[in-house]
Amino acid sequence: MVKFLDLQSQYQLIKTEIDEAIATVISESAYIGGKYVKKFEEEFSQYCNTAYCIGVANGTDALEIAIEALDLPKGSEIIVPANSFIASSEAVTRTGHRVIFADVTPDSYILDVSDVAKRITKKTSAIVAVHLYGHPCDMDPLKELASIHGLKIIEDCAQAHGAEYKGKRVGSLGDIATFSFYPGKNLGAYGDAGAITTNNAELAEKSRMIANHGRIAKYDHEFEGRNSRLDGLQAAILSVKLKHLDAWTGKRIAAANDYLENMKEIGEIILPVRQEWAKQVYHLFVVRCVNRNELAEYLKEHGVQTGVHYPVALPKLKAYSYLGQSEDRLFANESDGMLLSLPIGEHLSQEDTLKVVKLIKKYFDV
Ligand SMILES: *Cc1c(COP(=O)(O)O)cnc(C)c1O
Repeated sequence: MVKFLDLQSQYQLIKTEIDEAIATVISESAYIGGKYVKKFEEEFSQYCNTAYCIGVANGTDALEIAIEALDLPKGSEIIVPANSFIASSEAVTRTGHRVIFADVTPDSYILDVSDVAKRITKKTSAIVAVHLYGHPCDMDPLKELASIHGLKIIEDCAQAHGAEYKGKRVGSLGDIATFSFYPGKNLGAYGDAGAITTNNAELAEKSRMIANHGRIAKYDHEFEGRNSRLDGLQAAILSVKLKHLDAWTGKRIAAANDYLENMKEIGEIILPVRQEWAKQVYHLFVVRCVNRNELAEYLKEHGVQTGVHYPVALPKLKAYSYLGQSEDRLFANESDGMLLSLPIGEHLSQEDTLKVVKLIKKYFDV
């Protein structure tokens, strides 16, 4: 059996450290706020090479809070990639803005900068740069566009912990950035958790206040905010796992390299491209092929779990029919039926990846 995700085997690798961390938080009743949250925030901002990190309850909250902190004109347009998880666009609408979908590239599935440029209007205020599947967006041309038109950049790093653009860590590349620590993400908590990173002191303070009922001191509420907390148990767990993240990322990259190296000769499979300026952390390894569902079924029958990210491009979802972008001639709109995510993660051995390759070769008679 080749599993898509194996949180149990990962826990077994670090059981002693995790159990001790959990027991410590409980023995100190350090559930909300406190030193373990502060410690993880410090460690993670150091990891991302940013001045600030604010722990929040999940990656969706992180996006909503980050957009709100930017204080963009009410009802402005924010550009979001047409292929992502709905949280990337949901946060735009939830904070009172209008979603405008831009296409992604057919090689690396990241924002297509030339398509973004075409969608900028006088009402555009920001771009959500999703580092999808763990591959960083092409930030230099995006930042140039943003600076010409006075736009803000929100990095959605939910799938890209530790990814790098030209040697610089994601989370430090735009105005503000958001992370999810959903259990299945590259760095995952044992429940929901998220974070915001930035180098901007004002945005950091504003985000922290929004996440904490609009206050800094106990009952000194300067405006109405909300409650969105990273809790002590999750923070302590994340501190343990952060120490292992680079080694685990190394295993993801090794598995991806096995796939890339050994599937070249399968004409029916279109492999993802890692740009030469990218350190991709392979949250997902997504290929394209015509008979996606049949291949997935064949792999399942032979003990290999796969996934689809995402089965319906965002503009085609019922939730976005009001935008009228479902018929746009976008690569994202036309390729969603071909995407297939192969197993990837720190739990895979080379034997596993080669088993997957062998099965796919057999399926296509290569
Ligand atoms: C997982 C994910 C989110 C949302 O994170 P949650 O912690 O589940 O709220 C946002 N954006 C992307 C791209 C994601 O993959």
